[in-house]
Amino acid sequence: MTTVSHASTPASALNAPVTRATFDEVIVPSYAPAQMVLVRGAGLDVWDQNGRQFLDFTSGIAVNSLGHAHPQLVAALTEQAGKLWHLSNAYTNEPVLRLGKALTDATFAERVFFCNSGAEANEAAFKLARKYAHKKSEGKKFRIIAALNSFHGRTLFTVSVGGQPKYTEGFAPLPGGIDHIPYNDLEAARAAIGDDVCAVVVEPVQGEGGVLPATKEYLQGLRDICNEKGALLIFDEVQTGVGRTGHLYAYQGYGVTPDILTTAKALGNGFPIGAMLTTAAIGAELNIGSHGTTYGGNPLAATVALNVLAIINQDSFLARVREAGEKMHAVLQSLIDAFPQVFSATRGAGLLRGLLMAPDFKGRSKDFQKACEANGLMILIAGPDVVRVAPALTVSDEQIAQASKIMHDTAAVFAQDKK
Ligand SMILES: *Cc1c(COP(=O)(O)O)cnc(C)c1O
Repeated sequence: MTTVSHASTPASALNAPVTRATFDEVIVPSYAPAQMVLVRGAGLDVWDQNGRQFLDFTSGIAVNSLGHAHPQLVAALTEQAGKLWHLSNAYTNEPVLRLGKALTDATFAERVFFCNSGAEANEAAFKLARKYAHKKSEGKKFRIIAALNSFHGRTLFTVSVGGQPKYTEGFAPLPGGIDHIPYNDLEAARAAIGDDVCAVVVEPVQGEGGVLPATKEYLQGLRDICNEKGALLIFDEVQTGVGRTGHLYAYQGYGVTPDILTTAKALGNGFPIGAMLTTAAIGAELNIGSHGTTYGGNPLAATVALNVLAIINQDSFLARVREAGEKMHAVLQSLIDAFPQVFSATRGAGLLRGLLMAPDFKGRSKDFQKACEANGLMILIAGPDVVRVAPALTVSDEQIAQASKIMHDTAAVFAQDKK
């Protein structure tokens, strides 16, 4: 027998000196992270290796909705860490049962499947939709309809359902039976949804696709067509869920109820967890052995998520998100008023807001993001033409004012830099 030589891991590896340059040496180049390496956070404040402070209006892409190092979450996770980490799905546990109860009490759903990410929640939703239709239709009902410019994750199935060709390039052959239609276009939906469609999936607000909210008429129209055609309506609330739009889930604000809802991102405030929510009748199709994942419903993740829900799912908390969202909207509008040559429009819901680049600054959202970062404010983009802000839902009026000042100061210089 031959063996391959290897270096053992010394104790010094635990404190090895690392910098941004280390990234390029050891991580595959699928990301291009910022130059600073952040080491600590508290609320919306974060600090890098050099002790420089930044105001975080990204919340890890709508994930850390209660900010960094939230005391109740730290305490709950620490307590659970001393009790029980993991069991496998051969055993259930108290935190996951409590979390399942809390989620079904708070939503239309009667059954939950737990997993570890948004992509996995969507993967479960799409597989379930296929399986649910399969028996009834003798395999004739399998087509999935999704919106152009949508985002549903990066597994091969979910990335194929997402309507962004640049993300599937080079990965063929792709899963089939998926069609894409323009978002917010009910006529196109009506034309595309035939008897062979098992599910229609949309984000109530397209996040990665440019912070574009659906109209109420669109979601209601999709609901009606799905009812008529016997297709399941899936809402991907991975980004809009858990309070982000000022409702626990965006569907509750719209008043249109899906058959399946997927949630992740903010559910664990940074501790990986995802979930697929559905009715008892539909969920029953995921019978024993039909689907699974090692970590799904892990006690550590479930404990954190349960505490997240207990904080966010309160009328007063959600009302404050809507109020802060209006203030954020006013800030973005003031940027358009002050710099109409740079910014042309704003859209979004709650604390998920987009700011569109005007024609003279087309394709330059990333440049504006970088300029804000240099001035101490972390923000997001949603494509080359949209600046995106998604601060923690606990953001104060003072922090909104502080972000406003940095964005205005940054824009004043940026406006001189027309290419
Ligand atoms: C982020 C996101 C996903 C993917 O979630 P992961 O946890 O990265 O797999 C899916 N859908 C939407 C709408 C998202 O914003």
